[in-house]
Amino acid sequence: MNIAFIGLGNMGLPMAQNLARAGFSVSGFDLSAEQMDALVGAGGQRAASAAAAVATADVVVTMLPASRHVEATYLGEGGVLDTAHPGSLFIDCSTIAPEVARKVAAAAVAKGLAMIDAPVSGGTGGAQAGTLTFMVGGAAADLEKARPLLDKMGKNIFHAGPSGTGQTVKVCNNMLLGILMVGTSEALRLGMANGMDPKVLSEIMANSSGRNWVLEVYNPCPGVMENVPSSRGYAGGFGVDLMLKDLGLAVENSLSVSASVPMGTLARNLYDLHSKAGSGGLDFASIFNLLGKQV
Ligand code: NAD
Repeated sequence: MNIAFIGLGNMGLPMAQNLARAGFSVSGFDLSAEQMDALVGAGGQRAASAAAAVATADVVVTMLPASRHVEATYLGEGGVLDTAHPGSLFIDCSTIAPEVARKVAAAAVAKGLAMIDAPVSGGTGGAQAGTLTFMVGGAAADLEKARPLLDKMGKNIFHAGPSGTGQTVKVCNNMLLGILMVGTSEALRLGMANGMDPKVLSEIMANSSGRNWVLEVYNPCPGVMENVPSSRGYAGGFGVDLMLKDLGLAVENSLSVSASVPMGTLARNLYDLHSKAGSGGLDFASIFNLLGKQV
């Protein structure tokens, strides 16, 4: 099976390398030559352009930054849908707006091609280890065709429903995560302002009704947990600007479907202020610093 992989960034490169190491023939394209060299080092090939990579591919995976890059790559002049091999399957793993995912998939289907949206959770560590979670939107038969590849890049594969629903789940999940991080930080700050030891406070809340993923595995207060971004100056992990992007998708999507997301909107604006104050590159748990004196 010939695979074209477009977008070899922090996520795409290790995903494509895992496919190449698993024995698939992978032809990669990225705007950065260095990223393509790194794929060649893992047994892949470098393509001259996205269109060239796609022309001979049975399956095309895209892992691009945002909606506009996906729209341009698929629907722009000389886009990949125009050069695709008849019958090929497209898997877009980028995190983008659900409405854009549906629009691009409809254009693929109109040309006799198949497409699923398959955004991921698990970060760069999950991409390297091949343990990502895929949230898939599209036809069940197309997911089955994609499964042998997804299995080499991830551990959990969920079929969310028809086209666009993978992106909907991703947006809902990350909005909740952003809110949980702000809420947990706020509760910790309140306790600490009362003189509480954050470790004691965290342990009790993690075993009470405030329990959540942030308290259990990603505490935002430095020194409470080892091996989390808050205990190494908020380096690595999931960046403030990536969380800001995902909360922006949630707010935009809420307008398009007339849903109310007051907490998601507030969380987006807090991460926006935090980013503009110079923290965009830090892990998103650093929102803890916006809510009190830096520790
Ligand atoms: P990144 O910026 O590291 O990589 C994107 C790559 O796409 C870059 O190498 C860039 O050169 C390339 N690119 C841009 N336009 C292109 C084009 N027209 N043709 C070919 N290549 C092009 O981003 P990333 O961290 O790999 O994230 C990719 C997607 O995955 C995003 O949608 C992001 O929201 C999502 N995501 C990221 C994480 C994470 O922890 N980094 C986690 C889950 C999901």
